Amino acid sequence: MDTQVLIVGAGPTGLTLAVDLGLRGVRCTVVEQKEAPQFLPKMERCNARSMEIYRRMGIVDQVRAAGLPAQCPMDVFIVLSLVDPPLLHLPYPSVTQAKAQIAASNDGSLPLEPYQLISQYTLEPLLKSIAEKLPTVTVRYGCELLSFMQDATAVTATAKTVGGTPAEITASYLVGCDGGSSIVRKQLGIALSGEGNLLQLRQALYRCDDLFERIPIGKGRHYHVADDRATQLIVQDSTRHFTLHSIVETDADMATMFERTVAMPIDYEMLYVGEWKQNLLLADRYGDGRVFLAGDAVHLVIPTGGLGMNSGVGDAIDLSWKLAAVLQGWGGPSLLPSYEIERRLVGEHNVAASRYATVGRRKWRAAYRPEIRDATPAGAAARAELTRIADVEQRKSNEMIGAELGYRYIGSPLIAAEAGEGPEYDFREYTPTTWPGARLPHAWLADGTAMQDRIGYGHGYMLLRLGGAQADIGPLQNAFRTIGAPLQVLDIPDAAPRDIYGRDLLLLRPDLHVAWRGNAAPTEPGKLAALVTGH
Ligand SMILES: Cc1cc2nc3c(=O)[nH]c(=O)nc-3n(C[C@H](O)[C@H](O)[C@H](O)COP(=O)(O)OP(=O)(O)OC[C@H]3O[C@@H](n4cnc5c(N)ncnc54)[C@H](O)[C@@H]3O)c2cc1C
Repeated sequence: MDTQVLIVGAGPTGLTLAVDLGLRGVRCTVVEQKEAPQFLPKMERCNARSMEIYRRMGIVDQVRAAGLPAQCPMDVFIVLSLVDPPLLHLPYPSVTQAKAQIAASNDGSLPLEPYQLISQYTLEPLLKSIAEKLPTVTVRYGCELLSFMQDATAVTATAKTVGGTPAEITASYLVGCDGGSSIVRKQLGIALSGEGNLLQLRQALYRCDDLFERIPIGKGRHYHVADDRATQLIVQDSTRHFTLHSIVETDADMATMFERTVAMPIDYEMLYVGEWKQNLLLADRYGDGRVFLAGDAVHLVIPTGGLGMNSGVGDAIDLSWKLAAVLQGWGGPSLLPSYEIERRLVGEHNVAASRYATVGRRKWRAAYRPEIRDATPAGAAARAELTRIADVEQRKSNEMIGAELGYRYIGSPLIAAEAGEGPEYDFREYTPTTWPGARLPHAWLADGTAMQDRIGYGHGYMLLRLGGAQADIGPLQNAFRTIGAPLQVLDIPDAAPRDIYGRDLLLLRPDLHVAWRGNAAPTEPGKLAALVTGH
């Protein structure tokens, strides 16, 4: 076998998967058709959950160092231009401020890491360089997957390097992280369902060294222009680059639109113009046999709400430990199939959350009137009405903490079900819970460390014994030992985590989702160990 896992596509999903597999000691190869990472605009906001994941992988400081400086505001504005008084100013904490809020709170309601603005063109080369340093990871740019075949034991892929002839790569598993037009998905015959091609916009990237410092109405990250062209100006991580989205006729119009939005004399260079389409699509399945799909290959959302690449990062770390477990020999037969069950539901929720945010944005944009810039009573009324609606509706795009932190793996065969429905899912609000399937809420320990940091990376399952609980978990340890699955036990006598988590015992999976909880040792330890390891 040339490699254990062949990853197709070095976007954020494929590279995150490669780093996570590499850290778990799995041999993997990433093939990417591009010859090098490209300086093209796409996503710019890593959400809190992705940053928690990057912290766990030990790379969060590198991501922050490469991204927007921590003290920069993350505010969102609705404007006529950058020089007119804003119609609406929605303040959001900078990373520095958000970190201070997190440090001061210990009720589980906040993430361990706040968001980070980092442009995709910065994140991808960073993840690439991290992946390349891992001894078990091979990254091959300029290598395009052409086709693949699978049988009961392996996948044989045919790939072609630039100027080379097609060659075969054999792997135990293949993961298509090859984006919206995924050849892997198409070859598996898996369809995307939902609403495609909803809106077509142009996007341009500009270099403008002075603009950020000169914005008279205040620094922020998004400036939505109240016009009938869906115009939006986005600050990129260097604060010297900006993107603008707008519905215009020609590429050249993107220069006019930028100048109209900035509305003051400024030197700039337009580096790129391209078109992109809005979609709300979800794949009918997330793979077949030894071939899996992750990221944009299975879900395409509207960037509103920033759930695109963040969903892909979530897919990657759900699939990664399961592949590692099966390759290490202790993962049971329902482990890999659980990937689709767990992550497709999250995909479905995120497509719905993106639709909800988009509908909100459409509502305030529909209040646009041609007289909105006029110094007349009609102009003032148009501004007031749009602002009134936007103050409710625009928040839906920016305040999605429930979608980021609150997803639960409902109906998963790996999760010990409890009687009842569990807390209701709400993408606007996050209420900490340890209901089985949920992400472990963040808790500070008495010594100032974070619970998530106390749980070693790559060490398998973790049983937390909280608040001085004395339960005998020897039988559970024996059951894991029989399966060959790694289980560690951590005693945390502190009061705060016991209060937040609401139980004496929590069994966590390698991705820190709760698999089981209780106040006494499990009555059927063998059954529980078999369930959570996919046997
Ligand atoms: C304007 C805009 C703004 C956005 N903002 C945000 C945001 O703020 N937050 C957010 O979370 N998301 C955002 N997104 C979405 C985000 O960019 C995508 O969700 C993300 O790129 C998906 O990552 P991926 O790795 O799954 O796929 P991609 O980034 O599409 O990567 C797929 C890779 O596979 C490669 N590939 C394809 N076919 C082959 C082949 N046959 N062989 C080898 N390689 C192949 C491609 O070259 C590509 O590099 C935004 C998107 C747009 C368009």
